[in-house]
Amino acid sequence: MTTDLYRVLPEEMDELVIRLGQPRYRADQLLHALYQASPKNISELHQIPSEMQNALVAAGYTIGSKSEVQRVTSEDGDTTKLLIKFDDETQIETVLMQYNPSQNNKTHPRSTVCVSTQVGCPMGCVFCATGQMGFEKNLKAEEIVAQVLHFAHLLRQRGEHVTNLVFMGMGEPLANYSETILAIRLLTHPRAFGLGQRNITISTVGVIAGIDKLADEDIQVKLAISLHAPNDLLRKKLVPTAGPHSVEDLILAAKRYFKKTGRRVTFEYALIDGINDSNKAAAELAQLLKGNGAHVNLIPMNPTAGGFSRPARKRVLAFQQILRDGGVNCTVRVEKGSEISAACGQLRTDVIKNTTR
Ligand code: SAH
Ligand code: SF4
Repeated sequence: MTTDLYRVLPEEMDELVIRLGQPRYRADQLLHALYQASPKNISELHQIPSEMQNALVAAGYTIGSKSEVQRVTSEDGDTTKLLIKFDDETQIETVLMQYNPSQNNKTHPRSTVCVSTQVGCPMGCVFCATGQMGFEKNLKAEEIVAQVLHFAHLLRQRGEHVTNLVFMGMGEPLANYSETILAIRLLTHPRAFGLGQRNITISTVGVIAGIDKLADEDIQVKLAISLHAPNDLLRKKLVPTAGPHSVEDLILAAKRYFKKTGRRVTFEYALIDGINDSNKAAAELAQLLKGNGAHVNLIPMNPTAGGFSRPARKRVLAFQQILRDGGVNCTVRVEKGSEISAACGQLRTDVIKNTTR
């Protein structure tokens, strides 16, 4: 039985170095080496003596291998998609989206990494490429952390860094709850990767028990709930596993999350031509959400194999206007990376093409 060093929290690292008969400051040296350099194995942890490296190996600690199989960058250079392979041959995709400084009034670009939490997804949303592949496995915390560190390493070479993290890649993060939370603890711990908790967004299709659990955690992440429909009849067609969770249940869960955490929830709504984009649907959604301070983020559908298409721009804007007129704060997602299949719901499509070629 081995343990990957990228799943050991700083407090546990303190105990570990003491157990190995080392002084406590070695824990910080180890953490620094893990999160600021990119060691491929324990012998590359140059900051610590070889005697301690050997003791770590003898105690069953490893650094799992992960290799970049493919890298694709969009024409404008703002979106990069990586295909990463882990020890067990699992391949997943992760995406970096950059917004130049003039767009966010900063001197450095906003660099958002979009991570996957599962290989495939058990939720089966009909418009999502990941959902249509079925479920293969939950990613481990170290495999989630690796996706961020891989981009951190690339950015470091350009004097930039990861500023934001969204759990909007492949899979349902709250269906892989404990590994997702452990990854967040490692990525936000000031002695590990040190990313600001408020710079992280978890997107969920609506695992209600997970939402309530998350509200009780001592982590300040933002929450987005993928709603996609103003009523149960339509939602169950799009999210077949919605099962007993009604639209109303989701809205109540969002209210509880806000009440407990003080952080407002965003509702994501993938707009699909002729399916959920009518004026009537917009009015029904406005009615449902008005007065509770919710924010709606419209995602014009990215084409996948399912035969669904995106509405015309005019329709998207009309839908947004109805929500705004109804008193609901509503934005349209800035689209990034669709030409390299790096947009929402398209991940993994090319992986399959590549592996079956
Ligand atoms: N499982 C989580 C997070 C990953 S999906 C969830 O469903 O929220 C991230 C977002 O991409 C979700 O809002 C999802 O509905 C959206 N999405 C999936 N497929 C899409 C597609 N083809 N076009 C646009 N958005 C899509
Ligand atoms: Fe899973 Fe999210 Fe895709 Fe639905 S939209 S199948 S929950 S990844």
